Amino acid sequence: MSTIAKNIAKVATRIREAAQAAGRDPDSVGLLAVSKTQSAQAIREAHSAGLNDFGENYLQEALEKQADLADLALTWHFIGPIQSNKTKAIAEHFDWVHSVDRLKIAQRLSDQRPAELPPLNICLQVNVSLESSKSGCAPQEVAELVRAIAILPNLRLRGLMAIPEPTNDTAEQHAAFARVRQLQQELDAELDTLSMGMSQDLEAAIAEGATWVRIGTALFGARAYPSHTAKTAPTHDQRK
Ligand SMILES: *Cc1c(COP(=O)(O)O)cnc(C)c1O
Repeated sequence: MSTIAKNIAKVATRIREAAQAAGRDPDSVGLLAVSKTQSAQAIREAHSAGLNDFGENYLQEALEKQADLADLALTWHFIGPIQSNKTKAIAEHFDWVHSVDRLKIAQRLSDQRPAELPPLNICLQVNVSLESSKSGCAPQEVAELVRAIAILPNLRLRGLMAIPEPTNDTAEQHAAFARVRQLQQELDAELDTLSMGMSQDLEAAIAEGATWVRIGTALFGARAYPSHTAKTAPTHDQRK
């Protein structure tokens, strides 16, 4: 068994145990493999070991790997910060976008989604750790943004996404994820997705209702950033 296959088995066990502990069906939690900085070959291995959903943060890097992997039926998720000039390629080459945090980006994605493709699945990213992170809309903006995004024709708004400030304090992890779930429950919209939880905190996220956990390190090992970005790479992957 390859290292990646072993890691997938370990993560699948963590997901199953966390779901069972929360009285949830393990199949209600999707494993999104975060493959940023990983090679196309690593994705191929993960796919052979049973994974179909891959998350990428950097458009150019993602497009290169998608071209390499065009022979596989993969589902691609964009999960990184989005600049306006990237929306066209994202609308054309992805199935999901988890990191929409303003209306202008949602409008462009809807306008630029090719007519022959199904609606683009969208999560609205909300910033529940306001002091530490720049990405995501403010909690008090969520309701209005959801109303505006829900009516865009070529998008399908699925739910909220969050990246709370990393902490080893499990009570804090639970509190942050619970805020996301409560925000979603307060909305007057039919949403079925909560994208939250990473390698360090997937158990707390699943306990609080996550339906996608986005897992990088625990599947692929530590990320080696390209040397030209290493000096400026923040610890929490908020690079533009
Ligand atoms: C990198 C990244 C992840 C994965 O983080 P790990 O700690 O490696 O599991 C999840 N979500 C987003 C948005 C990321 O940028």
